[in-house]
Amino acid sequence: MSGWHRRYRCDVTGHDAISEVDDGVLGAWLTERGEPAYRVRQIRRHASLAGTCGWSDLTDVPKRLRDDLAVSFRWSSVEPVTEQASADGETRKALLALWDGHRIETVLMPHHGARNSVCVSTQAGCPMACAFCATGEMGLIRNLTAGEIVDQVRHWQDELAAEGDRVSHVVYMGMGEPFNNYEATLASARMLTDPDAFGISPRRITISTCGVVPKIDALASEGLPINLAISLHAPVDSIRTAIMPINRRWDIDLVLASAARYAKKTKRRVTFEYILLGGVNDSAEAAALLARRITEHMRPGAAHVNLIPYNPGPGGFRRPPVERMERFAEILEGGGISATVRISKGQDIAAACGQLKVPEGRAAPVA
Ligand code: SF4
Repeated sequence: MSGWHRRYRCDVTGHDAISEVDDGVLGAWLTERGEPAYRVRQIRRHASLAGTCGWSDLTDVPKRLRDDLAVSFRWSSVEPVTEQASADGETRKALLALWDGHRIETVLMPHHGARNSVCVSTQAGCPMACAFCATGEMGLIRNLTAGEIVDQVRHWQDELAAEGDRVSHVVYMGMGEPFNNYEATLASARMLTDPDAFGISPRRITISTCGVVPKIDALASEGLPINLAISLHAPVDSIRTAIMPINRRWDIDLVLASAARYAKKTKRRVTFEYILLGGVNDSAEAAALLARRITEHMRPGAAHVNLIPYNPGPGGFRRPPVERMERFAEILEGGGISATVRISKGQDIAAACGQLKVPEGRAAPVA
C-alpha cells in the first residue's frame, strides 16, 4: 500500500539556474546593469529562502531587474516530475528533471516535527556498482552541478515552508558517490552552510562515501566541520570486494587508516555504514572481527557503526532476522564500538537506503 503520488507539469529550459551561477558572474551581470554590489547577497538570500518560489517573489528588487533576471536565469535547476509519500507519511520521494532531461531522485525524511532530513543525490546514476544498490545498476549518467544538488534541498524547503516548517539536516546519501563529484559536492555544502543563504549548521550535514580515500584526506583539510560517513559493509576484503568493487582500489585497511586520519585531524567522530546482508556479512564472527579491525586503527570513541538492514533491491540478498541484527550490534558494543541498528523508512515507495533508481532506467529526456 502506498501513501500518495503527485505528478507535475515539467517546464525545464536550457539556460543557467541562479544556483549554478557563481557570485563573480552574477556580480558582473549586475554591474553591467548599474546595480549595487549588495544585490548579489540579496538575490542569494532570496534564492535560498523557504517559500520564495520565483523571481516575482523578490518584491524588494525593482521590477525591471526582476524581469531581466527571469529572462537570464532559471529560478531552479531542477523541476519536480512526480512525488510520492510512504503509507506511514514518514518519507517522501521526488523525481526531479534536470535541464538536459536526465532525472534524479531526492528524499525527505520528516522526524515528527523534531527535524526534517533531506537526502540529496550528487550524480545521475553511479559508476561504483555496489551489488546491493539500485542506483549502481544504472551506471553513471553524469555528475550534478552544485546548483543541482542545492536545489534538491530548496525543493523540499519550499514544500515545508507551505507547512510552516523547514529543512534542518542534509545527508549526501542519495544517487551517486559524492567524492566522484568532489568540487560540486563541496561547493554545495558551502552554499547550504552559508549564513547568508540556507544557513544550515555544518554539524547537521553528513557526506557519505563508499571509501574514496584521497578525497577523505582532502575533506579533512577543508576546515568544514561536517560529518563524514563511510560505507564499510564488510570486515574482510574478500566479502567487501564481492559486494563493493571499489575495495580493489582502496581496501579495508586503507579506508580505516584514512578514517583514523580524518578523525585525528578534524577531532570528529566518523560513522561507518554497514548494510546487513543475511548469510553474507552478518555473523557473530564478522561482528567481532569488525570491532577488532576498527579498534586497531581508531582511538576509542572516534568511530560509530550504523547497521542498516538490507532493503529489497538488486543482488538477491535477504535481510537478517531482527535478533541476529541486535546480536551483531551487541558484539560491536562489547568490542568497544558504539553501534545502532537503523531501520530505513520509505521501502514501500523505494526511497530507503540502496533503493533509489530513476524508474525509466537510463533517464529519458523530458519532452
Ligand atoms: S551504494 Fe552509493 S556508491 Fe554504491 S552504487 Fe549505490 S550510490 Fe553508488
